[in-house]
Amino acid sequence: MMTTPKELTAMQHFSCDICGKNIPGQVTRFAVKIETFAAADPAELTAEDTDADHVEEMARLLTEQEETAGEDDPALLPVCKKMRFDLCRACYRKFLADPLGRESVAKFDFSEN
Ligand SMILES: [Zn+2]
Repeated sequence: MMTTPKELTAMQHFSCDICGKNIPGQVTRFAVKIETFAAADPAELTAEDTDADHVEEMARLLTEQEETAGEDDPALLPVCKKMRFDLCRACYRKFLADPLGRESVAKFDFSEN
């Protein structure tokens, strides 16, 4: 059995992005990649969409959207964002059970069955 020293020295110390605990090198860490993007891409408008009639309609819709957007101005948000997190085993399991953290606010006790 061969172990390459190069790999061992290259091993970094990771800490969990949720609980902040150090994840020792010999313990499996779980990487989570999240890619977000604006689902409605204006760049994907076809020639048909820019017909005179549609432009007027689009402009009206856009204006309405801007008026209702308020503080959540989409222009201030990145169109596309990639994130990567390293999680310890416990946090990874919680993440899988509730990726958007919807339950963690009300329910702190994570029961295992
Ligand atoms: Zn953790």
